Amino acid sequence: MTCKGICIRHKAQKPVGSGRYALGQRRCQICEIFINWVGLWCPCCGYRLRTKPRNLKYKDKLRTRKQLEETNKSLLSLRPVDNITPIPLENTITTVWGTTNKETKNKK
Ligand SMILES: [Zn+2]
Ligand SMILES: [Zn+2]
Repeated sequence: MTCKGICIRHKAQKPVGSGRYALGQRRCQICEIFINWVGLWCPCCGYRLRTKPRNLKYKDKLRTRKQLEETNKSLLSLRPVDNITPIPLENTITTVWGTTNKETKNKK
C-alpha cells in the first residue's frame, strides 16, 4: 500500500465556506491527500478512504445545529406567538422585595 501518484489526478480543491467531507471529498491517509472520488477505496494506493471528519468537535457542531433547527421547528408549530399571555414580572418582583424589606426592618 503505497502512493503511486495516481491520486494527484483526482486531487480535490480546498472548498470555501463548507467542509471537504460535506462536498463528498475523501481523504486518503496513505497518500495524505483529499480526492474527488466516489468509491470507498483509494484509486491510487488501494487503502480505505475517510468519508467522515475525525474531529469530534466538528461532529458535535453539526449535531447541535441539526437539533436546534428541529427544536425551532417544533416550537414554531406549537402555537402562534399572539396566544402567549404576558406575565407582569416587574410587579411581582417589586411586591416580593417590598415585603422582605419591611420584615427585615421590623426585626431590627
Ligand atoms: Zn496516492
Ligand atoms: Zn491513497
